[in-house]
Amino acid sequence: MNVPLLDLKAQYSALQSEIDAAVKAVFDSQYFILGPEVMACEQAVAAYSHATHGCGVSSGTDALLMALMAEDIGPGDEVITTPYTFFATAGSIARTGARPVFVDIDPETYNLRADQIEACITNKTKAIMVVHLYGLMADMDPIMAIAAQQGLPVIEDAAQAIGSEYKGRRAGSIGAYGCFSFFPSKNLGGAGDGGMVITQDEQRAKKLVMLRNHGMEPKYYHAMIGGNFRLDALQAAVINVKLKYLDEWSRGRQANALRYKRLFEEAGIGPDQIQMPWMPPSTDPSYAGTCGCRHIFNQFVIRSTNRDALRDHLIGQGIGTEIYYPVPLHMQECFTYLGYKAVDFPEAERAAAETLALPIYPELTDEQAVAVVDSIQSFLR
Ligand SMILES: *Cc1c(COP(=O)(O)O)cnc(C)c1O
Repeated sequence: MNVPLLDLKAQYSALQSEIDAAVKAVFDSQYFILGPEVMACEQAVAAYSHATHGCGVSSGTDALLMALMAEDIGPGDEVITTPYTFFATAGSIARTGARPVFVDIDPETYNLRADQIEACITNKTKAIMVVHLYGLMADMDPIMAIAAQQGLPVIEDAAQAIGSEYKGRRAGSIGAYGCFSFFPSKNLGGAGDGGMVITQDEQRAKKLVMLRNHGMEPKYYHAMIGGNFRLDALQAAVINVKLKYLDEWSRGRQANALRYKRLFEEAGIGPDQIQMPWMPPSTDPSYAGTCGCRHIFNQFVIRSTNRDALRDHLIGQGIGTEIYYPVPLHMQECFTYLGYKAVDFPEAERAAAETLALPIYPELTDEQAVAVVDSIQSFLR
């Protein structure tokens, strides 16, 4: 059986008439840049994420860059972040001229370890950029405590985590800035590139809106140097349709995660062979505890010490997988100048060698999930 890692056609065919009508309405209006669709999108995504302000931007990468620009971060500054994430996290820091300073990750959640942040803070540290990897939020309470103590803004890279929760609070709403991506493969994906920065702070929101449009206010007067980081009306129109379904899709992903958990147990595959992703107790709909964590499973990532052979086997059986991410950022060629060595972040390095993402998209069928676990079982036999 063929099981793709992600099947966006299934989602589109379910929403086709609604999306096509929304796109046509933008063409009918000929209002392509900013305008009512973008404003509606900003209000809806901010409200959904428990924030007061939203600023639609051109991509998740630009959302991160703009948050850093809004804090006037640049050459000579340092920003603390994780080495185990998509490149854009540290890439955006480096593009401002600031230096990414990495701390290692927790091997179970893959998120940066709060207890290692303090040792990395210097008088050059200007911000902490935390990533909620795979749809699971980082341990925000200790991170926010350190940030408050040191007077540092926290930027949440929530590109993979829209709608996920930590103790009842939504991704992006806790730090000074929350950054989302509408890249098509994200849980809330557009028809191209797009993103958003959310904030609870009116002054920061005003600055973001100016930076997005060349720092211009009023027209042709520039008090600061911004860029063209605008969100297209067409993308906003698509997001406005899709946002209504996001919770349903997240529940589908959670149900798939629980199904994998059950199938692995039934197949007798234990953690000594394949390690499951960490799941907050609340992933189980019958759970009535107080943890309040909500994992939205942008990815379902297992790990195996024999990862590469397992992946080859799955490819041979038509099962789509991906490695997020094969090279931790401190080992990327472009960051050689930072001077890190291959032993500096052992958990990030081990994760890069062992993790494998399995299909988890909401439309995944029972038969497909069974086929995935069957082929893993046949590899282990
Ligand atoms: C996707 C992603 C980004 C970048 O988003 P784009 O919209 O592709 O620019 C940044 N950080 C993380 C963790 C991501 O997964």
